[in-house]
Amino acid sequence: MQPRILIIYTGGTIGMIEDPVTKALKPFDFSHLMENVPKVKMLDYHIDNLQFDPPIDSSDMSPEHWQHIARSIARNYDRYDGFVVLHGTDTMAYTASALSFMLRRLSKPIIITGSQLPIGEVRTDGEENLITALQIAAAKGADGRPMVQEVAILFENYLWRGCRSTKRSADHFNAFKSNNYPYLAKIGLGITYDQDALARNAEGPLDVNFGLDTSVMCIDVFPGLTEATLRYLLDTPGIKGIVLRTYGAGNAPTAPWFIDAIRDACRRGLILFNVTQCVNGAVHSTRYVSGDLLAATGVISGHDITFEAAITKMMHLFALDLGHDEVARRLTVPLAGEMTVCDC
Ligand code: ASP
Repeated sequence: MQPRILIIYTGGTIGMIEDPVTKALKPFDFSHLMENVPKVKMLDYHIDNLQFDPPIDSSDMSPEHWQHIARSIARNYDRYDGFVVLHGTDTMAYTASALSFMLRRLSKPIIITGSQLPIGEVRTDGEENLITALQIAAAKGADGRPMVQEVAILFENYLWRGCRSTKRSADHFNAFKSNNYPYLAKIGLGITYDQDALARNAEGPLDVNFGLDTSVMCIDVFPGLTEATLRYLLDTPGIKGIVLRTYGAGNAPTAPWFIDAIRDACRRGLILFNVTQCVNGAVHSTRYVSGDLLAATGVISGHDITFEAAITKMMHLFALDLGHDEVARRLTVPLAGEMTVCDC
């Protein structure tokens, strides 16, 4: 049977064309994109599409757009074998993370891709990315079930778990990486899947939650951060949760003013989620005195979660109206394979 794939075109470089006057790239419509990839017809798939009107640069992506994408997928879930979301690279990892929390118990693939060069350019990476994304969205395992049962980012040579991915390069074709989780598939002459890394979900109805609460922000710790600045940020009106980006294994200054300010914020009911500034590795709260002191204030360890997954996980959990303690508890457990919990 012909695989049925729904493409959701949101915009991004893949579909952009050059403004003849300013020479800047601007989003263009889906028909332009497909005209430039005639090879798609060789796949012999049934492909339908939905497109953002107008398509956007992903720097303009918002939680409302994520809800729109998630609703489009949920509404069409039973009618298609897989979904391909065409998206700008700048915020692709945020969208992938948000969708992973909004659409759970997936048993079908949601493959997000885009490109570094527009599809109309001779050396574009968009053609290959689009075709490979479609093939992955249609791929079935030996058991006849979809090979990929999660939200994933396909870019150049790799397929990554969406909620583990980060944009790592503004220039390279291999623009994405998951620094704390293996690739789901390697793209070379063929597509080689890593069966151990892929999520396997029981067949059944989707678990859908479209709510997102944007009462979140982040604070980056840096040498020279003052007490006045920290307290000002912690007092930001309307904020329920903060991703605290710390050094190394989750370490932060041990100065009493720092610890007191963080403890006061936690006592006031603010949820602080500790995520390392390191590209690779995890928060290990008990490894150093500085991390230990911080953990004692009530800050929650984010283990090896990415910043993109941390901020969207908070948006998702706050929208569920669970109350402080339950949000705090759920932050400590993986919901969509976004982190690996270790007892250290
Ligand atoms: N600014 C573009 C976007 O994110 C970059 C890209 O697609 O590569 O939409």
